[in-house]
Amino acid sequence: MTKTIERKILLNPGPATTTDTVKYAQVVPDICPREKEFGDVMKFICEELTRFVADPKGYAAVLLGGSGTAAVEAILSSVVGQDTIIIINNGSYGKRMCQIAEIYGLNFIEFKSSGYDAINLEALQDLIENCKTRVSHITVVHNETTTGLLNDIKAIGVLCSKYSIDLIVDAMSSYGAVPIDMKEMNISYLASSSNKNIQGIPGVSFVIANKQKIESIKEIKPRNFYLNLYMQYKYFLENSQTRFTPPVQTLYALKQAIIELQNEGIEKRYERYSNLWERLIEGITRLGLKYLVDRKNHSKIITTIVEPQCDKYDFDEMHDYFYKAGITIYPGKINNMKTFRIANIGDICEKDIDLFLSLLEGYLKSIA
Ligand SMILES: *Cc1c(COP(=O)(O)O)cnc(C)c1O
Repeated sequence: MTKTIERKILLNPGPATTTDTVKYAQVVPDICPREKEFGDVMKFICEELTRFVADPKGYAAVLLGGSGTAAVEAILSSVVGQDTIIIINNGSYGKRMCQIAEIYGLNFIEFKSSGYDAINLEALQDLIENCKTRVSHITVVHNETTTGLLNDIKAIGVLCSKYSIDLIVDAMSSYGAVPIDMKEMNISYLASSSNKNIQGIPGVSFVIANKQKIESIKEIKPRNFYLNLYMQYKYFLENSQTRFTPPVQTLYALKQAIIELQNEGIEKRYERYSNLWERLIEGITRLGLKYLVDRKNHSKIITTIVEPQCDKYDFDEMHDYFYKAGITIYPGKINNMKTFRIANIGDICEKDIDLFLSLLEGYLKSIA
């Protein structure tokens, strides 16, 4: 088991670079996921995932086989009744929530906001006050992975508390790094997945929910079968099993990733990521490149960089040049602007950022 696996540096926003110990944690004896032994593994996972953001006495994690979007879809389709949900959209992932709400026929209002600037909370408050129907939920992406804009979920939580609204947070790309306290921030439901800051293997998404809130959604008529949040929650509570076959090996890797996050600590992990970000920003600035989103609103986890102004520049060529060197970079996702993205998450260190920067310098020289 000491064989090392070729190390790749993933600078895409997840799946992230994992440790070898996480990779090898998947190699386990075959086991039926309905065995108690495996139920205990899942119980550990649920409890510890919850503990990173809330007290497991009042909050619970619900595991779902699937990518992160499964958790977001499970929440949106399961917790909203006939009342109105406001969906804050300041990037592709906010837009995705609107698409989900549309498909399920939810009564939703899209609250569009700039992809670079902080949300206008007064405008949001006006919208709540002037809404003709009752607003029962607001949903927002914490770290909008499109740009790296970090939304002020705490302030939105305060607004929600004033109007007795339940807050839903897509914390996919912030959970495990940016500290979150669900109770203090008044968050009822939070979605994340195994393969971003938690540094596990893709395949598991999860919802962390306020137990009182999730108990109350049993009255809502299910809109789907597989992704129904209440059914999944209830079944696991009673059986310590998921309703359907879980990604067994991915869960063993997740358990190991959780232990490694506990050892590093969320604050320390975010400090490591933030330091890598500072190094990245210092380097690209030195090379004459600009990035979107001001420092004060930046998550320091993923950065949208404006493409160099040069005829010979070609993202795909640059991608392949990096890929050959063992580094994966990511295209931009903003319609009217030519950008690319660099994430600084996962089991990476300063040396990796330095390697990226020196290769980038070489690429920019080659096209100058
Ligand atoms: C990664 C991500 C998702 C989920 O994407 P999947 O491809 O389904 O894993 C959802 N929201 C945000 C903000 C993300 O960064």
